[in-house]
Amino acid sequence: MNTIGWVGLGNMGSRMAANLVQAGHEVKGFDLNATAREIAASNGVQIAENIAQAVSGVDVVFTMLPKGAHVRSVFEGEDGIWANANKSTLLVDSSTVDVETSKYLHEESSKLGFDFVDAPVSGGISGAAAGTLAFMLGGSVENCTRAEKFIEPMSGRIFVAGGPTMGIAAKVANNLMLFINVLANSEGAQLAEKLGLDPKVFWDIVSASSGQSWAQQTWYPKPGILDNGPADNNFDPGFAVELARKDVGLALEAGAAAGINLPAGELARKQFDLLISEGLARKDCTLVAKLVDPAEQLEGLSEEASTANQKESAV
Ligand code: NAD
Repeated sequence: MNTIGWVGLGNMGSRMAANLVQAGHEVKGFDLNATAREIAASNGVQIAENIAQAVSGVDVVFTMLPKGAHVRSVFEGEDGIWANANKSTLLVDSSTVDVETSKYLHEESSKLGFDFVDAPVSGGISGAAAGTLAFMLGGSVENCTRAEKFIEPMSGRIFVAGGPTMGIAAKVANNLMLFINVLANSEGAQLAEKLGLDPKVFWDIVSASSGQSWAQQTWYPKPGILDNGPADNNFDPGFAVELARKDVGLALEAGAAAGINLPAGELARKQFDLLISEGLARKDCTLVAKLVDPAEQLEGLSEEASTANQKESAV
C-alpha cells in the first residue's frame, strides 16, 4: 500500500482517485469545490483541508486540474505543493496543459530537488471510471519507471513518450488530430445525407473504408447509429465544446512556437469559437455538425436545447 496525495477531484480526478482507493492505496485528496470533495469522500478518498495536508508525507502527488494556470497555482507559493511535499515525493501532473507550463513544472521541480513526470491521459470520463486510461509519460526514464507503478490501477496502457514534456506533446498532437477528425465527420455525414444516402448505410461503408476514424466510430454526429452517442443525447457532453477549444488552442500555441502552419487546426478552433459565441460551450463538441447547414435544425438537437443555451449566454 502507498500513500497518495491528489489535487483536483473533478470529473476525471474523482474517478481516477477512486481506482487508487480500490487498489488498496491510501488517498488524501483536495479540491476547492465542495461537491467534488463529497463525491470523492463517498469513494473512499480522505479529504484534506488544504494542499499542504494532502501532500505532506505521501509517496506521490497527482494533479488533475483544468488548465496550466490552475496547475501552476497549486505548485507555487507557501501553501503549494513544492513548499509542503517532501523532496522524496514523486510529483505527477496528469492535467492537459500547455507545453510551456509543463516545461516550467519540470524545470522548477528539478531545481527544487523533486522528481516530476508529465502524464496526461486519453480515454475520457468512461476510461477514468473503468481504470482504462491511456497515459503518456514525459520525463527521465527513472522518473517514468517510478511513476508507472502508481499509475497502473488507473490505466489500460502506459506509454513512455520520451523526456520532459513529451507526454504533453503527444497528448496535444493527438487531440489536434481528433478534433480535425470531428470536423471531417461533421462534413462527411451531412454531405452524404444531402446526396441521398441513408446515414446507417453510409456509416457502415465508411467503417470499412478510408474515411474511418476513432471519431467516426465513437462520436458520429447522427442519431440512431452508435450505441448511445452524443447525437442520441441531444448533444449533451461527452466532450464539451469548451474543452475541445482548449485542446485545439494548446496545439495551435505549440505549433506557433515551433514555427509551423496548422490551417486545419485553425479552422477547428474557429468552428468551436462560433459555437461558444452561440452559447453552446457546454454542449458536445460534435455539435460542429450544426454549422454545416446553419439554416436547418440539426437532427438529434432539440430546438429547445439550442435556444435555451443561446438565452443563457445572452445573460
Ligand atoms: P473538471 O473541471 O471536472 O475538474 C477539475 C477540478 O479541479 C474541479 O473539481 C475544480 O474544483 C478543481 N480545481 C480547480 N482549481 C483548483 C485548485 N486551485 N485547487 C484544488 N482544486 C482545484 O475537469 P476534468 O474533466 O476532471 O479535467 C481535468 C483535466 O483532465 C483537464 O486538464 C482536462 O483537459 C483533462 N482531460 C479531461 C478529459 C475529459 O473527458 N473530461 C479527458 C482527458 C483529459
